[in-house]
Amino acid sequence: MSNDESPNTLFIDGTWQPAGAGGVREIRSPADGTLVTTVSEGDRNDTERAIHAARRTFDDGTWANTSAWDRGDLLLRVSDILVRDQAEFARAESGDTGKRLVESEQDMADIAACFRYFGKLAGINGGDVVDTGSPDSFSRVRYEPVGVCGMITPWNFPLLQVAWKVAPAIAAGDTFVLKPSELTPSTAILLMRALDEAGLPAGVGNLVLGSGPETGALLAEHRDIDLISFTGGLHTGRSIAASAAATVKKVALELGGKNPNVVFADADFDTAVDYALMAVFLHSGQVCSAGARLVVQDDIHDEFVDELVRRTEKIRIGGPYDEDAETGPLISAAHLEKVSAHVAKAVEEGAVLRTGGRRPEGERYANGHYYLPTVLDEVAQGSYAVTEESFGPVLTVERFTDEDDAVRIANDTHYGLAGAVFSSDVSKAQRVAHRLRHGTVWINDFHPYLPQAEWGGYKQSGIGRELGRAGLGEYQEAKHIHQNLRPQPPRWFDGR
Ligand code: NAD
Repeated sequence: MSNDESPNTLFIDGTWQPAGAGGVREIRSPADGTLVTTVSEGDRNDTERAIHAARRTFDDGTWANTSAWDRGDLLLRVSDILVRDQAEFARAESGDTGKRLVESEQDMADIAACFRYFGKLAGINGGDVVDTGSPDSFSRVRYEPVGVCGMITPWNFPLLQVAWKVAPAIAAGDTFVLKPSELTPSTAILLMRALDEAGLPAGVGNLVLGSGPETGALLAEHRDIDLISFTGGLHTGRSIAASAAATVKKVALELGGKNPNVVFADADFDTAVDYALMAVFLHSGQVCSAGARLVVQDDIHDEFVDELVRRTEKIRIGGPYDEDAETGPLISAAHLEKVSAHVAKAVEEGAVLRTGGRRPEGERYANGHYYLPTVLDEVAQGSYAVTEESFGPVLTVERFTDEDDAVRIANDTHYGLAGAVFSSDVSKAQRVAHRLRHGTVWINDFHPYLPQAEWGGYKQSGIGRELGRAGLGEYQEAKHIHQNLRPQPPRWFDGR
């Protein structure tokens, strides 16, 4: 899309400016199609200018050599601004994504916490002294910034994904060019304003809005980018890794997941049903770690799935400001189409459609991208339905017989982002958690993450880790195992 009145929504070298070629994009609410905002869309020239600003600023050395404590203080000021302006940020996030305002408010609290965490971490450990085994030598490891980071982020948790990249980069003394999803640019703009207000020097943080192939692809190819950090889909991740190979830049990929939620017969029944619903239907399933695969023990399969279906049919759907709504629309018409096609293919393959599988009826849903929470039972192991991400409100159900069978089925995916185990036998739950080839495993819980614990995918869910402080870098996997010691029904979906 293009027009003469391109707004000043690119931030390059400390200046707000329009796109050079004047491209603009209208952002429309996924909930009802109303116009939310209009932004400038950059092209390769704008991206080139942003990369140049970040490179020049890094090579100048002033920023990289500022005190890490000062960089930490800047992040703490950003955290304060995020708390101060939480309502504005949350509204902007819900406007672009259509997600419920209460969820956006929770995201903003997580984002402020992320900036606070990295603000406090900056400067704590500048390096290590290494024992050389000799009194006649001295050896040390110094932690240094990587350089210029290219950051590409998705639309599902727009600002949270940005925060996980921007905050540690500032803590480390890197400079960056950020390209958020073209569908959800608003909170990235607000964040750049907050960074500016907090005193980030010109050229350290640059924002280019635009489409993936136009702006994102250049970040992956460009020789002046030292690290490309990407969060998004597997296919895009593969193409970014391939482009990055030409200049052997460092690559961090946070990709998709097809995450198993393993429920043993000895789990607390109501708690497990409640978490199974929340795991998959939160934010209409548009969560990388969504518990989209229920792997349930044979003995309780029928009773469990019946109750799950009963509760699923009671989930209330609505727009971001509908206080009664428990979940919302999908991000776009194209995504709605993709989710519908996914379900149709699963049914063609033999999955039993227990509920959902279509758009909700009624005038209030007519202009939004809504899709009913869907349960597909009796899906075959290894089938399309259980191996490919739908990234929508679609739950598949597989059965297992015993512990070994559960592990075998849960690991039978090329993804390895996250998973969960529900059981009242703590030893068994821990054993299974150890055997799951997924980067985060929750026990009797689903979805909590901690900035101080590792977040990253095994297998084709990613390369490298965001958050946490791992010991042996890329040479060791660091699995985060989180156990809820007082599991209770969260009543996210109240079943009325
Ligand atoms: P996507 O891959 O379509 O887009 C992600 C970003 O990449 C966007 O900014 C897009 O503009 C850009 N892009 C697209 N094509 C590009 C190209 N050729 N070169 C460079 N950049 C390009 O993903 P999406 O639909 O925005 O997000 C959903 C996906 O993100 C899901 O697969 C989800 O699992 C994943 N995700 C993963 C995590 C995680 O932590 N592992 C978190 C959130 C989302």
